Amino acid sequence: MKKYILALDEGTTSARAILFDKKANIVAMAQHEITQIYPRAGWVEQDPMDIYANQYSAITECIAKSGVSPEEIAAAGVTNQRETVIVWDKNTGKPIYNAIVWQCRRTADICEKLEKDGYAEYIHKTTGLRLDPYFSGTKIKWIFDNIEGAREKAEAGELMVGTVDTWIIWKLTEGKVFVTDRTNASRTMLCNIHTGEWDEQLLKLFGVPRSMLPEIKSSSEIYGSFECMGAYIPIAGIAGDQQAALFGQCCFNAGEVKNTYGTGCFLLAHTGNKAIKSSQGLLTTVAATEAGRATEYVLEGSVFVGGAVIRWLRDELGLIKEAKESEHFAKKVEDTRGVYLVPAFGGLGTPYWDMHARGTVVGLTGGAGKNHIIRAALESIAYQSEDVISAMKADMEDIYGFGEIISSIKVDGGASSNDLLMQMQSDFSNIKVCRASNPEATAAGAAFLAGLAVGFYESREQLKGLVGEGKVFMPQIDAKKRKELLGGWRRAIKACRAFAEIEE
Ligand code: ADP
Repeated sequence: MKKYILALDEGTTSARAILFDKKANIVAMAQHEITQIYPRAGWVEQDPMDIYANQYSAITECIAKSGVSPEEIAAAGVTNQRETVIVWDKNTGKPIYNAIVWQCRRTADICEKLEKDGYAEYIHKTTGLRLDPYFSGTKIKWIFDNIEGAREKAEAGELMVGTVDTWIIWKLTEGKVFVTDRTNASRTMLCNIHTGEWDEQLLKLFGVPRSMLPEIKSSSEIYGSFECMGAYIPIAGIAGDQQAALFGQCCFNAGEVKNTYGTGCFLLAHTGNKAIKSSQGLLTTVAATEAGRATEYVLEGSVFVGGAVIRWLRDELGLIKEAKESEHFAKKVEDTRGVYLVPAFGGLGTPYWDMHARGTVVGLTGGAGKNHIIRAALESIAYQSEDVISAMKADMEDIYGFGEIISSIKVDGGASSNDLLMQMQSDFSNIKVCRASNPEATAAGAAFLAGLAVGFYESREQLKGLVGEGKVFMPQIDAKKRKELLGGWRRAIKACRAFAEIEE
């Protein structure tokens, strides 16, 4: 009797394994931190072997801890940090370079050149993405251009390339299964989101031979199985972390929106079966869709530094010992005393798409102290998300004729456990904020996709009934106050971008 689904959640900062039961309750969980490598300013890497080893030990630890027999696990679903890319040798199974992480800005020059050469429009039309170092395509090109012999080996068919889902599944199945899903493929800048195929012209542009790339599948079907503690577990779900969270929050219909507050913040609005082109700097991307269903799409806004600004307060400034202390200290003061912090450590994402912007603190006075800075850091997460929400409202207004279609958002992710931050979001965006009762929405999404593929879960309708309601936050400030606060934020953004201009 199969009683559980295993979710493998390989996030930016940690690899988790979580067991879910039939009622979508968490039965056991194990988590291992991933080491971040910063070889130069703006560069971010991870060791692919470290990613896999941590994911594998999270699996065995989770199962051992739970007391569940691996035979009782119906299937596993994989969800992962998106865009991060790995190139490895087909014969030895060894990576030829570290994983280049989504946050890494090393390919800004390549993007600028492509922009100058007039490729932006084709890329946007075909992939739904913006020309930005964030996506995998230019990262792969960088590896070919900079690692000796890489291009020759690629052309000789000796290398494989994949996002983290592909790498983990290839390793788990000992090289037998080489696949990705449409949500991950849609973030590589190599995939045509309208057809779900690798795009020949883009492959040529980035110099990637088709044979290096995995097969693109749906997000919910059986891809193969892996041996785990003496049992074989089918792998039956794959989705990039943000699309998995959208699925885990049961946002299945057009107009439903979620925001995940993790390392970055990612706001996704479901747009049904339509791939909608944004006029506001949002990305068009693919929603996790089961095999046999018409492809579903989302509009997405990305904030590069979300919860990571709190990590920065902890690790670089030493202002707090733990992320959750940020709430305690920020509550000690009524407001930020006019201080604004713009954490544009690696540029600004939606709606600005400014690769050159860098972090800024403005409005300092002699009385501004530690607690004000901490509060301003928390506010910056909510302000950046508000920028995305208002861009999304404007797009929705163009499409559906009424921007107020977004009157509530579902939230999840590590930093969403911060009540003060959730209240700030509700206040700044004048929106109802509904926190998931299960904070692990991303893992739940992977479990749901795998569970649906093997009949462990029956339907989307059934899943909706399993996902409970969490805490709700309603706006508590008036329109005048909101206008004043948002006005300050806009000036802070201007100041931040002005500094980047002088720097050039
Ligand atoms: P990811 O999946 O991107 O690795 P998580 O969803 O685990 O991220 O969230 C971790 C991030 O959230 C970290 O950057 C951390 O600084 C931040 N964070 C965690 N708890 C809190 C909190 N209570 N308040 C504010 N930020 C938090």
